[in-house]
Amino acid sequence: MEIPEAIPVCYCENPAKLNTSWSNNNPGRRFFGCKKFGSKFRKPCRFFSWFDPPLTPRSRIVLLGLLKKVRTLEDARKRERRTWLLLKNHLMFIEN
Ligand SMILES: [Zn+2]
Repeated sequence: MEIPEAIPVCYCENPAKLNTSWSNNNPGRRFFGCKKFGSKFRKPCRFFSWFDPPLTPRSRIVLLGLLKKVRTLEDARKRERRTWLLLKNHLMFIEN
């Protein structure tokens, strides 16, 4: 993974923070933003600058497909865990 050579300064005159976008248009694409962004107490400025180049249409389709598969597998795992816990509680109830 590339490491930024120079960190830009935002409009508040602070070093900008490197974030990762997970939007459907730019999945995994990194950008610089105000370090106050996401803070409940400090108002961020509107500084925004992409760090990574745009994704090719093909990479975007592949990435979105992989993200969908990961989410589907995570959901299946959560359902299996719930079923297993219910079964475990049921077995403990029968034993006692
Ligand atoms: Zn700022």
